[in-house]
Amino acid sequence: MNYQPIIGLEIHIELKTKSKMFCSCANDPDERHPNVNICPVCLGHPGTLPVINKEAVRSVLKTGLALNCQIPEYSKFDRKNYFYPDLPKGYQISQYDMPFCKGGFLEIEGKKILIRRVHLEEDTARLIHPVKGRGPRGTLRPEREDYSLVDFNRAGIPLMELVTEPDLRSATDTRKFATELQLILRYLGVSDADMEKGQMRVEVNVSLQPGITRKLGKRVEIKNLNSFRAVEKAISYETERQTKILKAGKKVVQETRGWSEPKGVTVVQREKEEAHDYRYFPEPDLPKLSISQREVSEIKAEIPELPQLRRERFSKEYKLDKKNIEVFVLNKNLGEYFEKAISELRNWVKEIEFKTKLSDKEIQKLIQLSVNYLITDLQGLLRGASVIGDDFLITPENFAEFISLIYEEKISSKIAKQVLLEMFKSGADPSQIIEEKELSLITDKSEIEKIIQIVFKKNQKAIQDFKKGKTNALQFLIGQIMQETKGRANPQMVKDILEKKLTNI
Ligand code: ADP
Ligand code: MG
Ligand code: ZN
Repeated sequence: MNYQPIIGLEIHIELKTKSKMFCSCANDPDERHPNVNICPVCLGHPGTLPVINKEAVRSVLKTGLALNCQIPEYSKFDRKNYFYPDLPKGYQISQYDMPFCKGGFLEIEGKKILIRRVHLEEDTARLIHPVKGRGPRGTLRPEREDYSLVDFNRAGIPLMELVTEPDLRSATDTRKFATELQLILRYLGVSDADMEKGQMRVEVNVSLQPGITRKLGKRVEIKNLNSFRAVEKAISYETERQTKILKAGKKVVQETRGWSEPKGVTVVQREKEEAHDYRYFPEPDLPKLSISQREVSEIKAEIPELPQLRRERFSKEYKLDKKNIEVFVLNKNLGEYFEKAISELRNWVKEIEFKTKLSDKEIQKLIQLSVNYLITDLQGLLRGASVIGDDFLITPENFAEFISLIYEEKISSKIAKQVLLEMFKSGADPSQIIEEKELSLITDKSEIEKIIQIVFKKNQKAIQDFKKGKTNALQFLIGQIMQETKGRANPQMVKDILEKKLTNI
């Protein structure tokens, strides 16, 4: 019998607000300077009162709306009570039965993955367990010091939690869900959602469904997943582990396991997860919140075009292939730059169309040229930096002009690389570079003929060889002419004129 994994996710996301969730401390975990962004509120001193960060609430609502959620009219915060040294108040302010967002979905590979809720809470402090003979962040199998350290910079940072229904059915779909969610969060600007930095933490619940029964099996929750790769690998590992247990006729124990990256296995952290009792009750220091239709519409209007819509539009509008579209969707800035450059090119096309009407095919050629130079050449020059950074000097207008020069065959593709590099370094416009460095293609017939004469004088033997029928002599002569012009002669013209001349000798 085969078992299918059933997967549900709980995802925590640190919101990128200026200040913390309930106080005015800077929202900056600053791990190099522990305990600098703290105050009596986020340290949980008695007698302090929390104040709700409006920006954090707006970020959660925005995320919920982007994920097709309902926004209930009323919402409230609750206390989730438990003791742990990283929780100064002895409770976490969270949301229990009245979250900000309910019942949404995200489509992955044409399947709707239902989202149960998105709510808002506060992050905990960071615990450091120093290791003997090493710095506080040593990672080898530890012999621990007999004390721990607490850094409260993270305590009280706005944390959004998103919970899905157990709707995912494979490790790859789960990875796709998580990467698409990260992309959406970045488009919305609510979080950088970097998993390695702990800004996005994915907990995976996995159970197996044997054959045709519709009943869900006992689930295992996996924590400590610091990358998308780890998410995928942990699910595959857990599916295999649970399959072995069930095939041996034993039962899967409901428990929390951690992912060990070096060993590539999950290990038990806590058994019997059901036993929790957090004694939730409404947070008495905060008011119940009402969210008006007007606020909801305002926030909705701020949602930019999201990745899936952008994919569809890029495919329709520019007829790009899937791979190129994905580059532009993942690198949002590059995609936006591309669109600006194309709009400049369209202006240019309008100007030249008084002389010659461009066909759709020719316009598509212009678009494809832009794509190639942006994705291959420019990305190479940028080496991971962005086209938005202060040190990026090529304006979309100059880039469009550059493409038009290639299109009109004023420069060869070899020279184009040189021009682009120069534009990248100095920000100068391409025609200026071409003029200053004398890089334009020689397309003047008489000038090419002159150069051919010079080359002929120097290479009498090659001419004789050609006469004797050695065809590679022609290639040799073309090479000599290109060398003489430093690659600037129009190759097709050179070939045509040369052939004519040789047969007439
Ligand atoms: P809680 O953690 O508060 O007890 P639930 O158990 O209902 O809440 O769900 C927590 C997460 O576990 C959700 O993401 C949900 O989709 C997932 N989940 C629930 N049951 C299963 C199951 N049988 N297999 C896999 N995931 C599950
Ligand atoms: Mg849970
Ligand atoms: Zn504070």
